Amino acid sequence: MSVTAFLRTRYGRGLRSRAAIEAHQHRAIARFREQVMPRSPFYAPLAQTPLEALPRMDKARLMENFSAINTCGIDRDHAFDVALDAERSRDFSPMIGRVGVGLSTGTSGQRGLFLTTPRERRLWAAIMCGRFWPDLWRRQRVAFFMRADNALYRTLANPLLRFEFFDVTRGLDTHLGALAELDPTVLIAPAGVLGVLAAAQRAGAITLRPRRVISVAETLSPDDNAQAARAFGCRVDEVYQATEGVLAFTCPHGHLHLNEAWMRIDRDVIDPDTGAFCPVIHDFTRESLPLLNYRLNDVLVPDDRPCPCGSACQRIARIEGREDDMLWWPGTDGPRLIPAEAMRTVIANLDAAVGDYRVVQAGNDLTIWLEHPGPTSAASLHADLRDLAHRFGATLPRVRFRDGLPADRTSKRKRIHVDR
Ligand SMILES: [Zn+2]
Repeated sequence: MSVTAFLRTRYGRGLRSRAAIEAHQHRAIARFREQVMPRSPFYAPLAQTPLEALPRMDKARLMENFSAINTCGIDRDHAFDVALDAERSRDFSPMIGRVGVGLSTGTSGQRGLFLTTPRERRLWAAIMCGRFWPDLWRRQRVAFFMRADNALYRTLANPLLRFEFFDVTRGLDTHLGALAELDPTVLIAPAGVLGVLAAAQRAGAITLRPRRVISVAETLSPDDNAQAARAFGCRVDEVYQATEGVLAFTCPHGHLHLNEAWMRIDRDVIDPDTGAFCPVIHDFTRESLPLLNYRLNDVLVPDDRPCPCGSACQRIARIEGREDDMLWWPGTDGPRLIPAEAMRTVIANLDAAVGDYRVVQAGNDLTIWLEHPGPTSAASLHADLRDLAHRFGATLPRVRFRDGLPADRTSKRKRIHVDR
């Protein structure tokens, strides 16, 4: 792994002021313009263009121009074939030369292709180990639950690290034995899987004693976080990471900070009241497949308070969710954003018997599914929702209550979503 990046992540005093962040980014971007952009046929003629004036990118445009954007001369269709073949055969380290190829899950429908060079893999490992390795000189056993393995993750293995990959597509029950045998000191899993593992732990099916629990790849809701923390008896750290890279991770005080040491992150503010924004990233560490002026459709809510950890990297109060899944309710002067967090709190405060729930908005109709509702759950929730709407200066959409949970796939995965 990259020793400098490792030491900086673990012991470095970090970026302690906005000025330090800007100076660091300025230097890194200058280097990127000089050394990386000229190697990309797409960006070579744009190497001196201000970042925000570069063509606006999203997943679709990136995939469309993949062959011209990447600096490795890799053809998109070839890379797709390699990645798909590897996935079909469950051979998890597809490579083209020394470049690792991966496919993202594509929650928004389209699957993204990503590349990692050996240098990028070392950087990623440095952040994971530098920040999250519990005790440097003790051998660690890492259980890593992912949809597909990839050369990126294999980088973590070294003599001090036993690294076991658990394929989440296989069903979690099949893994419990191997998991108990591994007795991991570090447990890394997508938020949803952590929830299931926490339930298994509470039910006594496993008795893990991890020193670190890290949620990756999906956003971790506060209720899932609290449940996992209780089940495993330690705080749950969070790495907010997508195909697009590591965007944020929790500091030793448990607060999410944007990864401004690696990328400049501009804001496309969608709700001036809360400052909620979609990040527009310019990643100056990603050399294989440059990500510049790239807009993500995740909504982040900033927290402008300074953090006791001393890092000046922007704090994030929470990752609100996908832009497509934001609840907008009508208000007198236009639509009002109802934070998913506020909705969750209202439901969590209902009588304890209510288990899981789903909230689905379609136009001006809100359908709420409640598992094990009590006789008065619907009525009291309706009143609470009216209060909620009022607090945000909005009008409550038409509400319907249903018992149990919906069967369709999207609703299975997301507690709160918007049907379009
Ligand atoms: Zn902090």
